[in-house]
Amino acid sequence: MEFSTHYKDDNYTVYVEHGALRKLDTSSYDQVIVIIDEKVHALHEERLTAITATATVFQVAAGESLKTLAAYSTLINQIIDRGVTRKSVIVAIGGGSVGDFAGFIAATLLRGIDFIQVPTTILAHDSAIGGKVGINAESGKNLIGAFKRPKAVIYDLDFLTTLSYAEKLSGFGEIVKHAMLDSYAALEALQQDYSDKNKLARLDALDHWLIKGMAQKLKIVEADEHEAGLRKVLNLGHTFGHAVEFTHHIPHGQAVMHGLLLTGILSDRDMRPLAAWFRELGLAPIDYQPFDTYYQLMLKDKKNQDGSIQFVLMDQRIQAVSKERLLHAFNKLGEFDA
Ligand code: NAD
Ligand code: ZN
Repeated sequence: MEFSTHYKDDNYTVYVEHGALRKLDTSSYDQVIVIIDEKVHALHEERLTAITATATVFQVAAGESLKTLAAYSTLINQIIDRGVTRKSVIVAIGGGSVGDFAGFIAATLLRGIDFIQVPTTILAHDSAIGGKVGINAESGKNLIGAFKRPKAVIYDLDFLTTLSYAEKLSGFGEIVKHAMLDSYAALEALQQDYSDKNKLARLDALDHWLIKGMAQKLKIVEADEHEAGLRKVLNLGHTFGHAVEFTHHIPHGQAVMHGLLLTGILSDRDMRPLAAWFRELGLAPIDYQPFDTYYQLMLKDKKNQDGSIQFVLMDQRIQAVSKERLLHAFNKLGEFDA
């Protein structure tokens, strides 16, 4: 399966299938620089030799420790030392951390060279498209970055089989978010397809939901690439989710699932059925800290304006939410999310 973006120009193709790696074409470049998650390299070495044999390969350790100015400085200098040209291409092979990091190198190296995303996690169905790349500042996530469209996204589903269940569940959090942004019917259909943990573990019908999620995201970013307005709705579940991720060090998408529950409560929905489903899928309860821990972190969110916390609510409504209202929703969440 393949589809293309619908920007005015500079469109790219997204290939989503088992064996999609075959679609990777770097023949027009004079040098191929592969930045790859070392874990993915070890687990899938054989399938990757066709690509890595003729490329300059840099293996990196995935995760937030990669998305730092220090790691950026080390690798970009190593790449320059190897003699990169403007006709070189960077191929990022890994999850969201590798894509964000390698994409930021591509965006800034020689004022920008081409970049191809080869996502290897479920979560990366979200991060590999939309063109946001970047690294973290000491005081917060993704505060140093750029907009950089990839030249292609090669999503080979064979990679996903080696993901741990925790990472599958994390990626699933963003699939739930995209279904919620789509429609109530989409969310219901998703619940039916993944009524229990085994179905998610087996990745049943996953290609359908990955493609649907990417289409949902693309519809939004094509209308508002630089986040003047509409794109903010992709932050659904993330304001509280980021605070949870930062405080409890759980995988990003799992933190977003807690954020989606809080968002639903703030939007006056009965979230108990959804919370029960998340629990069935293996989302662990959180031993919450006092509310102020999260509140202080949410105040720092870069999407806030004039000192009030901007929240994306259900039905794509964006609202400033008072501390009192948040505290009330937080206490309710604690009643069934603990
Ligand atoms: P990740 O790259 O840290 O990968 C998660 C874990 O899975 C790592 O331990 C990694 O080694 C492992 N892994 C990757 N592929 C594997 C495979 N095929 N088999 C086994 N293990 C594998 O992160 P992620 O969860 O993919 O993404 C999270 C990151 O994405 C965060 O940094 C977040 O900020 C970013 N993000 C960016 C955007 C965007 O629009 N740019 C959107 C959402 C999230
Ligand atoms: Zn996210």
